[in-house]
Amino acid sequence: MKDDCIFCKIAAGKIPSATIYEDSHFRVFLDINPATKGHCLIVPKEHFENIYELDADTAGKAFVLATLISRALKNVLGCDGLNVVQNNGPIAGQSVFHFHMHLIPRYRDDGLSLLVEQEPGDMEEIQRIRQLLKDELQ
Ligand code: 5GP
Ligand code: ZN
Repeated sequence: MKDDCIFCKIAAGKIPSATIYEDSHFRVFLDINPATKGHCLIVPKEHFENIYELDADTAGKAFVLATLISRALKNVLGCDGLNVVQNNGPIAGQSVFHFHMHLIPRYRDDGLSLLVEQEPGDMEEIQRIRQLLKDELQ
C-alpha cells in the first residue's frame, strides 16, 4: 500500500467507491468520470505503478476478471461493444499511477471515439524495429 496513492486507498476500502466486484486480489468500481454508462476500472489491491511493473500472475488474473466483468456489462447494460483501455505514462493518458484497466461499454450513437489515427508504415522501418524487438525478446 502506497500512502499517497488514491487507488491503494480505494482498493483497501479506505475511500468509498461504487464497487461492483471485490476479491482478495482486486476491486472493480465505476469510474467517477464515466466515458459511457457502466465505465468501470479493474484495480489490483497491490500497488503496481504501470504495466512494466505488473507481475505475470496479477496480469493473468486481471484479464480473466476482465472477461467476467465484460459479460456482466453486456448482460446488464446491453452494450453493443466494449473497449478495454489501459494507459501507461502521462503521454499515454495515465493520470492515476497505480495500474488499472478501463472497461468502457460502447453503445450505438454514444459519440465516443477512441480510434487512433493510423497510416501505412515504412516497410524498412517496420523490419528494422521487428529485428530489434525479436533480439530483445530472445
Ligand atoms: P487513467 O487516466 O490513469 O488511465 O485513469 C484514471 C481514471 O480514474 C480516470 O478515468 C478517472 O476518472 C478515474 N478516477 C480518478 N479518481 C477517482 C476516484 O476517486 N474514484 C473513481 N471512482 N474514479 C476515479
Ligand atoms: Zn497504489
